[in-house]
Amino acid sequence: SGVLYVVATPIGNLADLSERAVSVLSEVDVIACEDTRHTQKLLQHLGLRKVMLSVHDHNERDRIDQISEHLESGRNMALVSDAGTPLISDPGFPLVQALRVRGFTVTPVPGPSALITALSAAGLPTDRFLFEGFLPHKAGGRRDRLSPLVNETATLVFYESKHRILETLSLMMEAFGDERPACVARELTKTYESFYHGTLADIAVQLQQDADQTKGEFVVMVAGNPDPATATSFDMDKLFRLLLVELP
Ligand code: SAM
Repeated sequence: SGVLYVVATPIGNLADLSERAVSVLSEVDVIACEDTRHTQKLLQHLGLRKVMLSVHDHNERDRIDQISEHLESGRNMALVSDAGTPLISDPGFPLVQALRVRGFTVTPVPGPSALITALSAAGLPTDRFLFEGFLPHKAGGRRDRLSPLVNETATLVFYESKHRILETLSLMMEAFGDERPACVARELTKTYESFYHGTLADIAVQLQQDADQTKGEFVVMVAGNPDPATATSFDMDKLFRLLLVELP
């Protein structure tokens, strides 16, 4: 039977498409993609005409049987998302999981991912990191995800959009303190690529100073807590103070 190739595509700079990605995309029979219009532009750039099949969060489960049939009939397929590596905060997980269970061959064709691209140039520790993807949209949900991370010692990595970047930085200051070292990467591999580093407070000031700096796509990286015990004893202090008020 055929193979599903999981193909990473550029996150902004078309020259980052690998030679192997180009040859796989030109050889496969069908391309499963997040948004056919978006992938059409990439294929046009490569001078390719291909059968496309949309696979997004809302129809992914229904597509699994259809894609299995293509593979069973010996057709090779590629899975791409709008940008970067499929499955990384993008559709594809239920499909790949199901194809593995059904015994099909799934082959990765590696390439850009904003998470690794950002970490590689941020200057924060990379020996251990925790990818947290997107935070929930509502402020309450975001607080609930951030507060348990206060004692995490690994570097934290988040994806964020222009709509919430400033609010997210202030929620992070609330959760981790203003002085926590961090780095924000904006518009990676594109014309306005920028890195902002310093404490969370420094970065918030840099972004607030100029409305242009809050445009585009962001990866927010926060250094881990170097002294998680301090955070615990801080909580204990708070608890004792609260208890003291209550005691007779
Ligand atoms: N699958 C993609 C990957 O491998 O990086 C991520 C897709 S996710 C829907 C989109 C988010 O990734 C954006 O909101 C942003 O946080 C991050 N991102 C993607 N491209 C980026 C870029 N060029 N610069 C900075 N962040 C980017």
